[in-house]
Amino acid sequence: MMTDFVARATTLDAADVLAPVRTEFFGTSGHGHHADVARPGMPIAYFDGNSLGRPSIASIERIESFLRHEWGTRLIRSWDEGWMRFPFELGDKIGRAALGAAPGQVFVADSTSVILFKLARAALDAQLERDPLRTEIVVDSDNFPTDRFVLEGIAAERGLSLRWIDSDPESGVTLEQVSSVTSARTALVLLSHVAYRSGFLADGAGITAAVHNAGAMMLWDLSHSVGSVPVALDAWGADFAAGCTYKYLCGGPGAPAFGYVAARHVEHVDQPIHGWMGAADVFAMGPTYEPGPGLVKFLTGTPPVLAMIAMEPVIDIIDRVGIDAIREKSVALTELTISFADERLAPLGVRVASPRASDSRGGHVTLAHPLMKDVTAKLWARDVIPDYRDPGGLRIGLSPLTTSFTEVVVGLEAVVDAILSS
Ligand SMILES: *Cc1c(COP(=O)(O)O)cnc(C)c1O
Repeated sequence: MMTDFVARATTLDAADVLAPVRTEFFGTSGHGHHADVARPGMPIAYFDGNSLGRPSIASIERIESFLRHEWGTRLIRSWDEGWMRFPFELGDKIGRAALGAAPGQVFVADSTSVILFKLARAALDAQLERDPLRTEIVVDSDNFPTDRFVLEGIAAERGLSLRWIDSDPESGVTLEQVSSVTSARTALVLLSHVAYRSGFLADGAGITAAVHNAGAMMLWDLSHSVGSVPVALDAWGADFAAGCTYKYLCGGPGAPAFGYVAARHVEHVDQPIHGWMGAADVFAMGPTYEPGPGLVKFLTGTPPVLAMIAMEPVIDIIDRVGIDAIREKSVALTELTISFADERLAPLGVRVASPRASDSRGGHVTLAHPLMKDVTAKLWARDVIPDYRDPGGLRIGLSPLTTSFTEVVVGLEAVVDAILSS
């Protein structure tokens, strides 16, 4: 018997405790798609909240008020009145709402790529000083390009070698793989907690423990985890982490990243891009660099304050509703997507290229078919917005704060039509 997915989505939307939160975001009025089509060009199904989250209404208001009252009125006085502390206050908020991190360990600055460079170099320099024989960096072949490129650059610069884990692009890195490649030669392991391609959810606690057993340090990339799946950096004993704020945290295009440095390392590591904003006394303009206290030394240049303000109201929403409720809806959204795919898309030759077990899956589902590149173009022309990743992968990103169950079904029905007409 064919499932009535529209009815199922309607029931799920009616029972969704996060449904009222959806209306706090621009472009999502109402649960169905009918209200949304009123605005020309507004997606009828937005499946890219894992790549660029929607703006919250509060973020729009906050930016306007920031321009008028902080930048416009207080002008340079605002640095003393709050902007200098903002990278750390915002970091503490992200840590509390979404990372399981106590205050004083998270800062906001730069891009994820630059923070990965800073933290990987900080970790490696500390390891090499302790034990010059630790010359290997472990990373997986399917990690996000920037992660691999940054490590390749550091390895070349420092005379270190990369030890590759050959990961399955439709799943991800397992604890067994990490245990089998780490040794007394390993200095650092860098992995994505949620794989950008498949959505595979790695074992944060288990892998961190295995890495520590080998005497190595663990740097987690949380770009596809933060604000979507629970993360417990302090409980895992993670050493370092970094991640994006423009994905599930809805900070806006190019919003700066966050970095996490475990409290036990803060005083003992040095990051490689020394700048005046990370110095002990910013306005001393002294002849030599002295690292600033606590997390200050992880900054380099002037904090991009304007780019940091949109995310704050969304972090407050996450803190208010709780990451566990977000995860619960996220699992229900991905389960609905997979059952629709199994019933309605599998007969058209579509394969689910993401883990089937929900405890091994993050917030997106990848659907594979040889025609998906063309299908994506057709969907975009119809205001159904997923994204495409080679080879043949249509990524269905499901952002629990902003995606409704009805939207999932509307969008997946459009996928059926697009494949049939391809
Ligand atoms: C999106 C993403 C990035 C992006 O890095 P930027 O420096 O912000 O462009 C990095 N790593 C992973 C795993 C990502 O998914």
